[in-house]
Amino acid sequence: MSIAPGIEVIPVPIPYPFKYVNCYLLLGEGAVLVDCALDTPEARGALETGLARHGLKFGDLERLVLTHHHPDHYGLAGLIEAEGVPVYLLDVELERGHPFWTEPEAMNRTGLELFRRHGVPDEALSNLGREMDKTRSRVHAPGNPRTFRDGEVLELAGQRWRAVWTPGHADGHAMLLRESDGVLLAGDHVLERISPNIGVWAYSYPDPLGLYLESLEKARGLEVSLALPGHYRPLRDLRGRIAELAAHHHERLDYLLGLMNGEPKTCWELSLGLFPGELSLPQRRFAWSETLAHLEYLVNLGAVERSEDGTIRYSSTVHSLAPGRRA
Ligand SMILES: [Zn+2]
Repeated sequence: MSIAPGIEVIPVPIPYPFKYVNCYLLLGEGAVLVDCALDTPEARGALETGLARHGLKFGDLERLVLTHHHPDHYGLAGLIEAEGVPVYLLDVELERGHPFWTEPEAMNRTGLELFRRHGVPDEALSNLGREMDKTRSRVHAPGNPRTFRDGEVLELAGQRWRAVWTPGHADGHAMLLRESDGVLLAGDHVLERISPNIGVWAYSYPDPLGLYLESLEKARGLEVSLALPGHYRPLRDLRGRIAELAAHHHERLDYLLGLMNGEPKTCWELSLGLFPGELSLPQRRFAWSETLAHLEYLVNLGAVERSEDGTIRYSSTVHSLAPGRRA
């Protein structure tokens, strides 16, 4: 389906709550794919069918460009590269995101250490190894990825796209802006229906929420006529959505501070309050990492203190970031 001049969207089914990832096919002088889903039979079939509608196979692509290293955007990259297609990602993502797939033992070990230091109970980690193995079986890391830099202009299918580094959802998350008409390939930086996960993981920057809020400001400064995100529908009013997302995080920060009166608590305990209700174990771990990002942001602001005696705990030094905003 054509979504803007020279841009086709290929919605690809993925086994995650989003249900689909949007892969974008740039057509002009050649064909370039932006993001590639992960290796399930359904996803691969949908992507191959989407390309075949334009008479293309993986090997006909001039390049594959990845917005970030998460499996739903990156998983088929190694297979497409094996068809002779160069794979590109931001230099920061090569350094910081790509190793998650190429150094699995070290990543699993440091990830487990981080969960434990933060008081995540063993039963919440019970299936972690098996789940990681399943995800890794659906991801083929590119063996020889090429890089681009923040601000660099890339010639993709004869179109000029400027790379915009937007750390937060992933350290090396990149958007691409076609400055001639303001079309933005937004990756998962700004989504329509949900707030993209902003989490601390063992290998990520220590304050991803601080970076994310800065990246939202950076995106707000761009002249965008149409934002094409990694999931859900296109956004016409990018600045409006950015304001909603920033407000959402500030509300969550205040709510988290409200949970912290009294005893120092672990991030796990606080995550149960910030995300109450039934969640699957993988969702619980995302909730934990999102809570941790909010806590570490508050530590940086001086609103929360971190202490460690084998287990890391947090206590608040203020009741609210914006006195009077909460009833
Ligand atoms: Zn995604």
